[in-house]
Parts: sequence; structure tokens; C-alpha cells
Amino acid sequence: MRRFFGLKNPKNQRQRCTAEREREREREREREMKFAVKAWSKGRARAGVLQFVVGSSSSRSNSPSHPTEIEIETPALLLSTRKGLPFFISPDLLPSLPSDSHLLQFSPLHFLEGITPETISAIGGLHEMLGLHEYGFAAVPRDSIVCLPHCDGTNKLGASFETPFGRILIKPSEYIKFISSMKPNSWTTLADEVPAWVSEKRNKTSVDRTVRWLDDCIALSSKGGNIFGAIVGGSSVEERRRSAQEVAKRNVSGYWIGGFGLGESMDDRSPLLNAVTDCLPEQKPRQICGLGLPEEVLQGIDSGVDLFDASYIYNLTAGGFALTFPLERIVRNVSDSQLSNKGSDGTKINLNDAVYRKDNSPIVDGCRCYSCQNHTKAYISHLLNVNEMLALILLEIHNTHHYLGFFRAIREAIKGGKFEEFRNHFIEDSCDHVFATALSA
Ligand SMILES: [Zn+2]
Repeated sequence: MRRFFGLKNPKNQRQRCTAEREREREREREREMKFAVKAWSKGRARAGVLQFVVGSSSSRSNSPSHPTEIEIETPALLLSTRKGLPFFISPDLLPSLPSDSHLLQFSPLHFLEGITPETISAIGGLHEMLGLHEYGFAAVPRDSIVCLPHCDGTNKLGASFETPFGRILIKPSEYIKFISSMKPNSWTTLADEVPAWVSEKRNKTSVDRTVRWLDDCIALSSKGGNIFGAIVGGSSVEERRRSAQEVAKRNVSGYWIGGFGLGESMDDRSPLLNAVTDCLPEQKPRQICGLGLPEEVLQGIDSGVDLFDASYIYNLTAGGFALTFPLERIVRNVSDSQLSNKGSDGTKINLNDAVYRKDNSPIVDGCRCYSCQNHTKAYISHLLNVNEMLALILLEIHNTHHYLGFFRAIREAIKGGKFEEFRNHFIEDSCDHVFATALSA
């Protein structure tokens, strides 16, 4: 009765609307992302801190979430996910990873085959749906594992992707519908990504479309959020610069650099990356897709990129590989037996190899991950041999733990003013091991 009376009273209605708007504004302020650069190398590489609040957007009265500030040091690794969760690690094992693993990347396109944006919105967004209240989510349309851009299918209406459920075309309005329902901590605008070999005309069209979709996405997202403007430009330094300059004019929280890992050579990449980062304001984060190998990550950081995806970890794990390169010192100390193994190159070993069937040591002596603390190479090798899912879970835990350690070592090198030496040592040492492996084959 009181509720009915209240609805009929315009003054009460106005007060309720104002209070609701205030609460929404407060929630938006809480969700704002902050970024600050703390140290520079001798070149463009920088170390910074990214801060964001999680657990504050819940509207469900029975939710256990409370606003929590997450702080991620950069350069950082974003954990790649399928539908918001790591490929093999279950949610109950996520807390066993180091605290710098609390930023997860997902593609809204992973959800196109089933649950609707309305249902996700009714649940309260992605954090609520997955029960991960202490993790940040970064939405990117493309991922480098199961949602690859398909430039021939892209047209003026929307971007095309190859996905596990077929080729799909997504328009900015459909994309924003998913973003609004999921409430990620940051999201990237839609991009027309093209491979390195397309014509100059097609590359220019890709930049024009990506800028237009950026404006469309900003206009369509009434609640804003932390928008990362997409930058493309293929293999043209001029188009890369034009794309970055256009995005830098817009009011966005950060930048997402697309179109890499699509056929360009390692030698061509640095001038393209530098053309982009030189046009961007220093005090906003830069995220990239398509650079996963350690050498590629170092190349991106050398150009001033802050955030990377972990598709490399997925590819390693799915192939039965475990990272082994020493984190404490860059000079390797790999035994001759490891060098002679198939698929091992001094940075990783392949546990499918029969030589590990009787090896009762952990993957890396002294590694503090759950897998190395509790299991041996022999056991994981056995699990791989009999196709047990647990093998991939244990490998993903170790590989993620190890790669996070690699990023930590890079940050320390930048802070200590030794990033360039770190990078050179790592690359020289990798080359030495590739050469040694080739000789021993
Ligand atoms: Zn380990």
C-alpha cells in the first residue's frame, strides 16, 4: 500500500530517481581506472601502476562483494580466458596464483552462442555471474586464441570474426549491448583489424572505419566506463600514426593497439609500434593483442606498451610445454639432456617427451607454484600420456606463475634502469640456445 502511494506521489518519484542517479554516479566514480607511470628506462619502456575498484557494482542484496581496490603493476600480463575464466584453471585454484594475476581479459563474443545480454544484466554483470568479485575484467572483441579477426568478412556495418561457432559479424550497437550488460572494468572499442599484406586502400579504410566505430561506441555507451580506444593501421607507419592521432583526440581512459600478430615481421614491428606510442599521451595505459612470445613482449615493452594478453600461455599449455627459463638471472643453465629433447629450446620443455616419464623433480626447482610444490615432471608427463585434464590444469598454473615472474623481473629491470641490458641478454641467450639445439638435433 505504501509502495503504491509512493508511486503516485510525483515528489517521491523525483526523489527516488535523483537518489538512484546519485548511486549510479557514485558506482561509476568507484569503477574509474587510474594509471600512473612511476619509472622510465633509458628509452620508451616504462613501469607504472594501474588501479581499479572491483566488487562495487553489485545490485544483489545477497552478494558478498565489497568495494576493493586492485593495484596492478605494469608492464603486466592479463590472463587470457574463455568466457571469463582461464582455459584450464578452475575458479577455486585461481587464488593460488600470485596477486598480480587479478586482471582477466575476455571477449564478449564468447557469449554470443548462448546467454543473452539481458540475462547477464539481470544477474548483475560478469563479476556476479562468475562469482569473481576480486578480479578485474578487460573486454576486448578479438582474442588471439578463438576469436580471430576476419578482414574479408568485415564491412561498413561491423567487424567479422572467426569463432568456434562460425564466422560472425558484430555491429557496434550489438557489441555495446554486451558491454553494458557485463560491466567490465575496461573495454576496447570495435576495430577493423587487417593483416600486414592488405592493399594501401584497404588499410586506409580500416583506419577510417575503426575511428568511426570508436565514435559510435562512445556515443552508444551511455554509462561510459573505462574505454580503451582501438588503434589500427596495419603495416603502414603513416596509417598507424594517423590512427593513433585520431584516437588520442578522444576522451578515453586508455589505448588498445590492434592489428599485430597478423603477418608482420619482427623487424617491421618496432617502427610501427613506436609510431603509435609516440602519438599517445604518456599518462594513459596502452594495451596490445597479438604479441605473446617473450621476445615479442620485450619488443612491445621497449616501445612503451603496458598490458599484454596471455595467449602464449594457452598455446604452450595445450602443447604440453612448461616454461623453464631462469627468472633470477638471464643467463641460462640448461643441461645437455634438456637441449637434446624434442621441442625444448632452453626456455621451455615438452613434458610429452618420454625422457620425463621417470623424472621425479618438479618442473622448476624452487618454483613456488602449486604444481611444482606438489607434483613431479613424471606425474604430469603420465597425466599427459593418458589424456587427463589435470595435466593441463597443472601446466597452466605453472606457466602462468612463471610468466608472471618474467613480467615481475622486467618491471624490476625498468625500475633499476637496466631494461635495455635485460632485453639484450634475454634475446642473445635465446639465440644461443636455438643454435645449440639445432646443433644437437
Ligand atoms: Zn612451478
